[in-house]
Amino acid sequence: APPFDPGDPLGLDDLLTPEDLAIRDTVRAWAADRVLPYVADWYERGELPGVRELARELGGLGALGMSLTGYGCAGASAVQYGLACLELEAADSGIRSLVSVQGSLAMYAIHRYGSEEQKERWLPAMAAGETIGCFGLTEPDHGSDPSGMCTRARRDGGDWVLTGRKMWITNGSVAGVAVVWARTDDDGGEGGGDIRGFLVPAGTPGFSAPEIIHKWSLRASVTSELVLDEVRLPGDAVLPGAVGLRGPLSCLGHARYGIVWGSMGAARSCFESALQYARTREQFGRPIGGFQLTQAKLADMALELHKGILLAHHLGRRMDAGRLRAEQVSFGKLNNVREAIEICRTARTVLGANGISLEYPVMRHATNLESVLTYEGTSEMHQLVLGKALTGLDAFR
Ligand code: FAD
Repeated sequence: APPFDPGDPLGLDDLLTPEDLAIRDTVRAWAADRVLPYVADWYERGELPGVRELARELGGLGALGMSLTGYGCAGASAVQYGLACLELEAADSGIRSLVSVQGSLAMYAIHRYGSEEQKERWLPAMAAGETIGCFGLTEPDHGSDPSGMCTRARRDGGDWVLTGRKMWITNGSVAGVAVVWARTDDDGGEGGGDIRGFLVPAGTPGFSAPEIIHKWSLRASVTSELVLDEVRLPGDAVLPGAVGLRGPLSCLGHARYGIVWGSMGAARSCFESALQYARTREQFGRPIGGFQLTQAKLADMALELHKGILLAHHLGRRMDAGRLRAEQVSFGKLNNVREAIEICRTARTVLGANGISLEYPVMRHATNLESVLTYEGTSEMHQLVLGKALTGLDAFR
């Protein structure tokens, strides 16, 4: 058997093709060059400067809409997309969020539900990172249960007129196009019609996207409110293929899959910090990694990290085979984000006081993961999805 590799104790790289490995290495090298040296500073300042340039570079790497086909998209496998998410989130969850929202939410919605004209107008520019997209589902009063959304789309002659507010929208203030979900008045004016998706170009009168400040998580990521005040759109601004809540929920499933991998990137970064620190930091005359309590922490972190990567890989293979179920994505997101948080917290203790410093990535990842635990379905929602699948009983309402 080959020698034991502390970076890959289970030999999971054997599951990857040479092309998978090349993609992973390319994304890892990009993140090491373009994100890691600066991200602590961005985080401290609470901004993502140069986001447009970063988006163009990510487009150049083929990382935007990576597993979509045609329209300038890379047509990569689900496993390859997952590997990219892991490498990006090992740098920072904010960068992975930029890519997830662009590719798995905004582009995926247009690719899957858009008309040919909509796809040709938006997707090539989005794949290249020239145009950033956002995805507006959550509202101030409607998060886990978007079916109650208040944003309305009213017919006015051939036009649509949108009014409402969206909250916590990643990429909102920098987006050239917003995919906005609204309830139509198809029922004759009561506002009880279907939920439909609309493409709202930035600069449309009545539309604005003020940035949300005072965040203590995902600080190197743009998060915004979307304000829609009688926003008039042409009749062909609606996504023809999506009618009902299934549309946005299917997009979320795709993004959630990327988080199963991405969260393990944050965990890997924290584990590596802890391992390196434990080998060199000395107390009581010896490296703290020589104490049994520290070794127990490192061993347990390694178990959950590599089990999580194995789980992500398994789900990726199922997605590539067209056999991945939503409940299985919930399984992966619930487990991997939860374990990533646990790994980050344990790494924090290994680093002692340095664990709370931005000089090390641990606290940054730990606070980022609080958002990751909540968005794309809270951990409780995924417990309920699995609870329902296991018992056949719906506990949502
Ligand atoms: P709520 O739904 O109000 O939930 C509050 C708590 O109650 C949670 O613990 C929840 O699990 C629990 N709860 C709710 N219902 C039940 C129930 N039936 N049983 C048990 N517990 C329950 N949204 C977008 O549309 N687009 C984006 O790009 C986007 N980006 C985001 C970026 C960040 C940084 C963050 C923090 C959020 C983002 N979101 C985005 C919003 C995110 O999807 C929501 O925050 C999430 O869906 C939860 O909604 P909520 O915050 O309103 O919490």
